Amino acid sequence: MAKQLRCGDLMPGCDRVIEGKDEKEVMAKATEHARNDHNIRTMTPDLEQKVRGAIHEKP
Ligand SMILES: [Zn+2]
Repeated sequence: MAKQLRCGDLMPGCDRVIEGKDEKEVMAKATEHARNDHNIRTMTPDLEQKVRGAIHEKP
């Protein structure tokens, strides 16, 4: 089941859409994107939970 994350749901103003074959892949890509483009070096449990909550099935 393909998953999708709209970064803008978490980071207003960001139009990046991250897709992956499952939640794990989306999380990995989101972590990398956050580090590269939002200067978030550490994915805290709180942030990880927010990201997981924003991931949904690809339409
Ligand atoms: Zn972003």
